[in-house]
Amino acid sequence: MDEIINKLIVEEGDIVFLEGKPGDCAYLIESGSVEISVKRDGKTVILGRRSSGEVVGEMAIIDSEPRSATAIACETSELLIISRDQFQSRMQKADPVLQMALNIILDRFRTTLFHLNQMQENADEKVFFTDEAERKVMQPYSLALREIQLEREMNQALSFGEFLPYFQPIVEIGKRKISGFEALIRWNHPIKGILAPSMFLPTAEACGLITQFTQSIFYQSVVFLKTLHEEMLLEGFKQLPSISINISGHDLVDSEFVKQLLVHVKNVEIDTHFINLELTETMLLSDPDAVIENLKNIRHAGFTVSLDDFGTGYSSLSYLHRFPVDSLKIDRSFVKSMEESEINFQIITSIIMLAQQLELKVIAEGIEEESQLTHLEKLGCKYGQGYLFSRPVPGNEAKKLCKAEDKV
Ligand code: C2E
Ligand code: CA
Ligand code: CA
Repeated sequence: MDEIINKLIVEEGDIVFLEGKPGDCAYLIESGSVEISVKRDGKTVILGRRSSGEVVGEMAIIDSEPRSATAIACETSELLIISRDQFQSRMQKADPVLQMALNIILDRFRTTLFHLNQMQENADEKVFFTDEAERKVMQPYSLALREIQLEREMNQALSFGEFLPYFQPIVEIGKRKISGFEALIRWNHPIKGILAPSMFLPTAEACGLITQFTQSIFYQSVVFLKTLHEEMLLEGFKQLPSISINISGHDLVDSEFVKQLLVHVKNVEIDTHFINLELTETMLLSDPDAVIENLKNIRHAGFTVSLDDFGTGYSSLSYLHRFPVDSLKIDRSFVKSMEESEINFQIITSIIMLAQQLELKVIAEGIEEESQLTHLEKLGCKYGQGYLFSRPVPGNEAKKLCKAEDKV
């Protein structure tokens, strides 16, 4: 017997090696042929057939992982056995660059197999959600797979009408009265329940689906507002609430954007001055000329505009000069720590003063404590939003909140 190479003779149907079992050798097919397969969901998936001159089970001689497939002889075959030891003793003598290249290829191959297996296992679950923290630690490859999967899911969910707005009251602080609502998207997922935007909006932004979300949320929100107005008028209310809708950077550079909104406005027969659009400072940067043009059209059509998360971006005064807006929303990170952090308290004070000087409305976000509200009121902040008043709620609950108030 050759001390380097042993020979194995197999008959048709003989198992050469089994998926999941340990293995420490590869086989060079001297004559005959071998079929390679894997088991998925209890079914056998045939990957291919190898014949004379080809190698099977090669992974086992490079690392010590269990076999990733099964090999069965298709006919009487002669296989030359190459053991891991034989291979590795040669590898040790090989050029270090070749050693490194081989290890990289092997690692990638194993990772690919692992993710393909995971994809298969999760196929029934269908949705691949990734929150911000998870995204940071995930390998680009598996992240890409999840994104593609999620994009497909979202496309389907859009056609099934699974995205809907929840509504959070914006309160006039002096009167403790609801002056309007912010519409906040939720995914009413058939299996996972109600999902927050952080689970899917980053992917929607990245793949461009976000513009369809804006249109859908805009339409549903103005329908909600129209019916609320009709019901409130019937019940004798004099002051009617407004609606604030978040838009994306993609919308703001799209020359058709305002026209599309106006189609909804016309269909629903609602006055645009009840509709406010919320955008962030970073959106203003992408294509300033297109943005200025769109902002002009937005305001010309009668919509108002808020600068959302104010204070977290560049907060350059020249913005407020170049990009006309109607209100500033103080980011909730400042409100959260306004009582512990002197700097944040000062930032809030400055934003309120700036807004007053520029005759802009100012809204404080994320008010959770009565004491925060008291401070904000003293500083002259006229509007507030936060869990202290209400969390975002479905349309029917939002209507009840409005109708429970005094009719003045
Ligand atoms: P945002 O526009 O700054 O919306 C306010 C977020 O703060 C909402 O989170 C709201 O639920 C949350 N919030 C309100 N009050 C409080 C409070 O007192 N405490 C705390 N801890 N949080 C509070 P949500 O609904 O998860 O939305 C997150 C972000 O997703 C939004 O931030 C907005 O940037 C984006 N978003 C939501 N809906 C839409 C949409 O329809 N279109 C677009 N383009 N973006 C949206
Ligand atoms: Ca907002
Ligand atoms: Ca905000």
